[in-house]
Amino acid sequence: MQTSLSGIGMTSMRTRQRLITRLMEQGIRDMHVLDVVRATPRHLFLDEALAHRAYEDTALPIGHNQTLSQPYIVARMTELLLNGKTSLKRVLEVGTGSGYQTAILAPFAERVFSVERIRPLQDKAKIRLRELGFRNVYFKHADGGFGWPEKGPFDAILSAAAPEVLPPELLEQLAVGGRLVIPVGGVRQQLVVVDRHEGGFSEQIVEAVNFVPLLKGVIA
Ligand code: SAH
Repeated sequence: MQTSLSGIGMTSMRTRQRLITRLMEQGIRDMHVLDVVRATPRHLFLDEALAHRAYEDTALPIGHNQTLSQPYIVARMTELLLNGKTSLKRVLEVGTGSGYQTAILAPFAERVFSVERIRPLQDKAKIRLRELGFRNVYFKHADGGFGWPEKGPFDAILSAAAPEVLPPELLEQLAVGGRLVIPVGGVRQQLVVVDRHEGGFSEQIVEAVNFVPLLKGVIA
C-alpha cells in the first residue's frame, strides 16, 4: 500500500504522458499499445529505490543481473507482435523478468504463458501481476529456450532474452499464421520477426537491440 501510494506522486499522469510522447517520437504508432503503456504502473515493477526512475525510457536493474526492459522496446515488440490486430489468443513469453512486459501483453491476449529460468524473479512477478488483477497469465519455471510445448501452438511468441541463433523449438511451437518477435545474436544483436505461413517461415530484421542473453538451465 505504501509503495502504491508513494508511487502516485512520482508517477503523475504528466510524467507518464511524457514517456508516451517520447515513444511516439521514436515511432511507436499503435494507439492501443500506447494506451496500455500509459495505464501500466511501471514503478510497481521496480524496487522502491529505483521507482522514481520508472517513467524514464531506460532499462533498469531488477536483481540477479537482469533488467526491466526499456519502455520503447517493450512497446515496439508488442506492436510488432500485434501486427495491427487488437487481440491475440495464446501468447508465449520467454523471460518473465519483472513481469512488466507480461503486463503490457496480457490486455491483448486471451492467455499469456510466461516462462522464466530464475525462480525468485518469477515469484515476485507472479505476486505483482496477481495484485494488479491479471487472471490470464500462467507461469512456468523452466528454460524458455524450449518454449512450453504442452501449451502450444502459440499465435504469438515474444522473447525478452537473446539466443545466439533462433531456437528451433520456438519455431515449432508457432501456429501457422503466428508471429515470433525475438532478439538474436551475441555481442551484436538484431530484433527479428518470424512469420509462419502454410509453406514455411519468413524472417525480417527490424533493428539493432541490446538484450540480456538467453541462458541455459534454471536457477532455483
Ligand atoms: N521483459 C522483462 C525482461 C527481463 S530480462 C522485464 O521487463 O522485466 C530477460 C529475462 O529473461 C530475465 O529475467 C532472464 O532471467 C530471462 N531468461 C534468460 N534466459 C532464459 C531462458 N532460457 N528461459 C527463461 N527465461 C530466461
